[in-house]
Amino acid sequence: MSIQQVLQSLDGIQEWQEETYKYLHAHPELSMQETQTAQFIFETLQGYGYQTQLIGGGVVGVLQNGDGPTVLFRADMDGLPIKEKTGLDYASQVVMKDLNGDMVPVMHACGHDVHIVAGLGAAWALALHLDEWQGTYIALFQPGEEIAAGAKAMIADGLFEKIPHPQVALSQHVLTEPVAGKVGTRSGSFLSSAASLSITIYGQGAHGSMPHLSVDPIVIGSSIVMKLQTIVSREMDPFQFAVVSVGSFQAGLKANIIPDTANLQVNIRTYNEKVQQQVLDSIKRIVHAECEAAGCTTSPKIKVFDYYPLTENDAKITAEVTEAFETYLGKERVVAYHPMTASEDFSYIPQALNIPYLYWGFGGFTEDQTSYANHNPKFAPAIQPTLRTGTEAAIIAVLCYLGK
Ligand SMILES: [Zn+2]
Ligand SMILES: [Zn+2]
Repeated sequence: MSIQQVLQSLDGIQEWQEETYKYLHAHPELSMQETQTAQFIFETLQGYGYQTQLIGGGVVGVLQNGDGPTVLFRADMDGLPIKEKTGLDYASQVVMKDLNGDMVPVMHACGHDVHIVAGLGAAWALALHLDEWQGTYIALFQPGEEIAAGAKAMIADGLFEKIPHPQVALSQHVLTEPVAGKVGTRSGSFLSSAASLSITIYGQGAHGSMPHLSVDPIVIGSSIVMKLQTIVSREMDPFQFAVVSVGSFQAGLKANIIPDTANLQVNIRTYNEKVQQQVLDSIKRIVHAECEAAGCTTSPKIKVFDYYPLTENDAKITAEVTEAFETYLGKERVVAYHPMTASEDFSYIPQALNIPYLYWGFGGFTEDQTSYANHNPKFAPAIQPTLRTGTEAAIIAVLCYLGK
């Protein structure tokens, strides 16, 4: 049982992992600005003997160990513009300039610090046990997951010309379920595709007492918000999944002024690229028609941003890795996961290479702990068994293909 020995050796790095986790948690960086984090990962991987490169804001370490397949394991590394409210002694105090130039508080509220530490732990163990596996291991640390920019940035910076071609890609996320210590896998659609839209309505301003001289963008926007509710309820096949949410509606400053513009921010989720296109087309149609109906002389501006692809796990890889999880973690630590409405940009990498992939979840909260969802200011996973489980899962999945 050689994999078992590799897993046991993690005792030797546990203290380092816990200290490193606290350090990273206290020093988060915003998406596409993870320079210190990347530098730390770069140096750590180099210390383990990896051929290490900075690519598109991320870090890739390659460890060649004789003939055999090539496997890529990806971890993301960005924090979020959230003021931490965990009260932990290693809570983040960081404030940094975002990409718009505004100073914002920063927090690892999605657990990407857990991912980094698990990824480094797996990289350490694989470098330590070269006699237990054969092939090429690619440890990839991706920036900018939270704004769906990092995977694309690494690809645009020549990722695939700079690393060996993998046959399988793997990744994972710490979540509020299952309970800490357990992993969950799912074949097929796991995470939804997502997109956000910024919609600007151009009306005509006037004094609040003279509505007949205005084209009121607040009334048009309200009508749009209500009409958008009919996309899922009236246009969508009831057996298809779609979410359309308006998260922001901004217009005007004063009770007696009808403003000349309004802005809506809309977020959509689907499990199917075709359905996504249908939803986008419906939104555009409704927005244009409502503006026209109200007599706007300038067309509305619609910008689609933060586009996330579908995460659809390969059936064969899911079955193989799930079996390996059950063998080495024990059946009681492996659960079947349900589809999630969250989204990820990881699949850009395997999709661009046309290779199969698996993305799984692992628990971050123990039973006797209050769990807060990812992106909550109180998101504070239990350090253990979370770090150990994420590290074990990464090693088991990788050795499922590289192990002797
Ligand atoms: Zn997140
Ligand atoms: Zn995340």
